[in-house]
Amino acid sequence: MPKSILTPDEVKAMLLAVADQIIASEPYLSEADRNLGDGDHGLGMQRGFTAVKEKLAGTNPADGIDKLFGAAGMAMISSMGGASGALFGTLFRDGGKALPGRAELDAAGFADFLRAACDGVTARGKAKPGDKTMVDALHPAAKKALESAALPLSEAMNAAATAAEDGRDASKALIATLGRAKTLGEASIGHPDAGACSVAIILRTMSDFAAA
Ligand code: ADP
Ligand code: MG
Repeated sequence: MPKSILTPDEVKAMLLAVADQIIASEPYLSEADRNLGDGDHGLGMQRGFTAVKEKLAGTNPADGIDKLFGAAGMAMISSMGGASGALFGTLFRDGGKALPGRAELDAAGFADFLRAACDGVTARGKAKPGDKTMVDALHPAAKKALESAALPLSEAMNAAATAAEDGRDASKALIATLGRAKTLGEASIGHPDAGACSVAIILRTMSDFAAA
């Protein structure tokens, strides 16, 4: 049954599903980063989400959904290193900060989560849409989630995930202006950004969880 809200137990289960999906996507994410960067993105994400699973095992969903996202973010920040450790950790940690006191996750809360996540990542990394980074998937997803805030959660998550996938695909045509890929200049055209690939996987897995 498609879900219009997620309980704290379900939010925890969703984060564990995201972790498993990212871990399983290591070869794909490594390949994406090999095309444009140094090839370590898949392994970094795999390490970070393995730490997320360990950290979540010790968290009580009844403490609040904001704490679940916050715990995931902190686990990534302290385990991953590299550009994306800080940035993906910030995505979850700052997104969670938008949800204090919420008993459950609905589409309005999801929109607040993605808005705060995108603001946190752009404040930290200084990327703008079009720089060919994870922001090219995250920013359109946050915008779409806001437009979908009155829908059932499963529909809002599907819309946001589709926006992230479109953003990832559109990043192929961009010239990188930030991060390691910057040095490639026009040679960066033709491949999607690795971080945008990760954002799309994260949001599609959330959407699949809410749709089931
Ligand atoms: P590193 O660049 O340290 O090897 P990763 O390979 O794990 O780190 O991650 C690379 C990804 O990080 C890029 O594909 C891009 O999406 C993202 N990224 C790098 N720098 C920035 C930035 N300043 N702002 C937003 N995202 C960034
Ligand atoms: Mg890399």
